[in-house]
Amino acid sequence: MSCIFCKIANQEIPSELVYENDNIAAFKDLNPQAPVHILVVPKKHIGSINEIKEENKSIIADIFEAIPIITKQEGINDSGYRVISNCGENGCQSVEHIHFHILGGKKLSETLS
Ligand code: 5GP
Ligand code: ZN
Repeated sequence: MSCIFCKIANQEIPSELVYENDNIAAFKDLNPQAPVHILVVPKKHIGSINEIKEENKSIIADIFEAIPIITKQEGINDSGYRVISNCGENGCQSVEHIHFHILGGKKLSETLS
């Protein structure tokens, strides 16, 4: 499997890891779009939101359980943040391994699209 986020999540290639447990990893985005920009991914490959199903849904819950832990650690839990997962061509998904962007550390745009 040549998926870059599989390799980052399983630490086969380096990243600025900020959190991990048995099922998920969180690391700093290479091209940050806010003072805090972290990507949270499952260690097991899931292509996008379109591939969430009964067998893998608990990993998505694991990601959302970790998000407030990560935002506390990064100092943006109280000031607020945004979580985004782009899906498919119109969603401008560029890496086909499901990932949740955490953006914060400044007042974000009021528009989403
Ligand atoms: P998408 O556009 O698919 O929603 O988001 C992909 C994100 O992954 C982008 O924000 C991009 O900067 C980030 N990214 C792509 N390749 C790498 C990489 O090798 N390392 C890290 N840390 N981030 C990456
Ligand atoms: Zn993958």
